[in-house]
Amino acid sequence: MTTPRGVFIETFGCQMNDHDSAQMLKLLGAAGFHAAPAAEAADVVLVNTCSVREKPAHKVRSLLGRYRLLKKERPDLVLGVAGCFAQQEKGRLLEAYPFVDLVFGPDAVAKVAELVERARSERVLDTRFLDRQEQPFVNELALGEPGQVTAFVTIMKGCDNVCSFCIVPHTRGREVSRAREDVLDEVARLASAGVREVTLIGQNVNSYGGDALGRAFSGLVRDVARVPGIARIRFTTSNPWDLSPHLVRCFAEVPELMPYLHLPVQSGSDRVLRAMRRKHTRAEYEALVDSLRGARPGLALSTDVIVGYPGETDEDFRSTLSLVEEVGYAFIYSFKYSPRPHTAAARLADTVPEAVKSARLAELNAVQAPITARAMEATAGRVHEVLVEGRSRNDPAWMSGRLPDFKIVNFPAPPRVRGQVLPVRVTEAFPHSLKGEVVLRGDERDTGAFRPTEEEPAGEAPREDPAAAPVLVELRPRRTARRMGS
Ligand code: SF4
Repeated sequence: MTTPRGVFIETFGCQMNDHDSAQMLKLLGAAGFHAAPAAEAADVVLVNTCSVREKPAHKVRSLLGRYRLLKKERPDLVLGVAGCFAQQEKGRLLEAYPFVDLVFGPDAVAKVAELVERARSERVLDTRFLDRQEQPFVNELALGEPGQVTAFVTIMKGCDNVCSFCIVPHTRGREVSRAREDVLDEVARLASAGVREVTLIGQNVNSYGGDALGRAFSGLVRDVARVPGIARIRFTTSNPWDLSPHLVRCFAEVPELMPYLHLPVQSGSDRVLRAMRRKHTRAEYEALVDSLRGARPGLALSTDVIVGYPGETDEDFRSTLSLVEEVGYAFIYSFKYSPRPHTAAARLADTVPEAVKSARLAELNAVQAPITARAMEATAGRVHEVLVEGRSRNDPAWMSGRLPDFKIVNFPAPPRVRGQVLPVRVTEAFPHSLKGEVVLRGDERDTGAFRPTEEEPAGEAPREDPAAAPVLVELRPRRTARRMGS
């Protein structure tokens, strides 16, 4: 019998990375590892990295500096770097960090147990892209955890676009779609394990199946909606110019498809959009928003915005502000432009001074903040269908769930309601989360079904859940950032 060994995975970046880390944990679990609570208690430490901005890449470098000391104390520790930064830097990481044992890219995730084993006796590099035939979208990884209510399901990876600022095509490779049958099989298995909501993920889900007309993805959404047990569907990330009328119709015709969509725009200026090699104009984006909201009135939108792209003038920036005000996003992910290696924009002079970028970022967020606040406040006093996802992070005597439009609400309820869709009246709105109460039927009022029992004390109303806050400034590590391109 082998001695159980601990693994600790530090995750930076987007949902794809979250999902890859979860898959690695499962694969390593099957190979005899358990999840260690901290790097100091682990035999294997993996850093699953992001390189979409300079800041998370910088954080990875500092973290490696910290782990160098750990490795010095415990030379038998296996230290690995995975993800997009590993894919970007390849063997250069092994050269720059002689204490790193293992470097591997996103396409090698399925081989993590074998790679870790090899790294115990040699330094290992695996950053090869797999082609369409080889791509392992391994669905046996998808079995739900006990009590799991929501799950990500990978449907494609990579991107065939060439947005000038974006490193994703370099780190995740060309688009590869997963077979429809495999996706549906995974969703069915998750549903039978108790999962009620699936989020279909990929860098550009709208071009799933390589179908320029978008029928493949809209068909997949309709198929997933028919899987017994699935109450809610979401998807991300959604490229505007690949979002087809077929998919817009899904918002009108598929009730399981939730009324929230992340639709990256990047800039409100046509001049900047052209320079970014985006294939949409501002007017086309606005028309798309209109048709989406025509299909599903009240649809909540979020977006990505880059400020300070090379050559962005004050007038360009004002166009972005006016678009943000016009669309009325529920929230935005905003970033200062930073040149990424291997991108077309990296060859341009970074003309906007850092101070100007910072001022524009602050102004953009100041414009967005009251819009977000109004969207949160508009939910107050009304009853919403809430899928109960689990205990509140701030107070385990409270439960937490999401409204259909993705807003988080905390409310007193016993843990047994996890996984149910309940009517919840919002009683108070905070900047990034809501407080509410379950609307009781008469019989529930009599039995106290939603009053905490002695074993489930009411506790204090949770304050604003910091984990619910959208990232308004920059990517943050450890499952907080929600940005993956498109
Ligand atoms: S921004 Fe999106 S569409 Fe453009 S290259 Fe990156 S992943 Fe592809």
